[in-house]
Amino acid sequence: MAKVVCSCGAELNNQEAPNNIQLRVYTDKEWDEICDCESIQPWMIPEPKYDVWKCPICKRIYVYESDSFSPIMVYRLEQ
Ligand SMILES: [Zn+2]
Repeated sequence: MAKVVCSCGAELNNQEAPNNIQLRVYTDKEWDEICDCESIQPWMIPEPKYDVWKCPICKRIYVYESDSFSPIMVYRLEQ
């Protein structure tokens, strides 16, 4: 997945690397398991379970499962 149009009309893409769109989200437990060794290198860190995108304009959060093209969850800013 490389491009998404947000409900606010903004076009989100992750073609820039690094970018400010894609978030790497792990639970504390997942992170603890990842870091449970003597030394951790960036390449040793597994991909997060969910692909999480944040719209920089309206701050909506889109949560995707690995290979899905439609989000399994969408969060909109309450205030
Ligand atoms: Zn948006």
